Order: sequence, then C-alpha cells, then structure tokens
Amino acid sequence: MLAYRAPRLVAVDPRHASQTCAACGQAHAASRRSQASFECVACGHADHADLNAARKIRRRGLALLRGKGRSHSATPTIREMDRRLAA
Ligand SMILES: [Zn+2]
Repeated sequence: MLAYRAPRLVAVDPRHASQTCAACGQAHAASRRSQASFECVACGHADHADLNAARKIRRRGLALLRGKGRSHSATPTIREMDRRLAA
C-alpha cells in the first residue's frame, strides 16, 4: 500500500527578500547589485540574487512552521526544499 502525504504550503511574506541577506539578515537595497547579483553590504555574503531570495523566503517559511510547533525536518516538503536548495 502506498501512502501519500500532501505537501504543506505556507504563505510567506516575500517583501524585501531580494534585498535581504540570507546569511546575516541585513536588509539594504545596495546589496542587490544587479538583477542577478547579490552582495551583502554588511557581511560580504555573495550569491545569485534569486538563490539568496529563495533562501531567505525558505527561512521565513521555516520560522512560520517552527512557530506552529512542528519539527521542520520531519516534513517531506521541507526535506525536498532542503534537497533542491543544496543542489
Ligand atoms: Zn549579510
């Protein structure tokens, strides 16, 4: 018998994610160097701008899940997100 667990969706506020550092949390417009480039003015963390924003949004989602008392590593959706972001 196959068991299927539906993925859990979490609504995350995306505001300023493209200008917020996924490493230190500093938000500054100057960190968004171009459409594709992110370099934190506070800590120097550099990444593709879309990946940096995706990591920041992921953290916001994990914080929401933790706030609801769920273990983030126990959900298939979070494990899949971890796998994709690590690739
Ligand atoms: Zn930073």
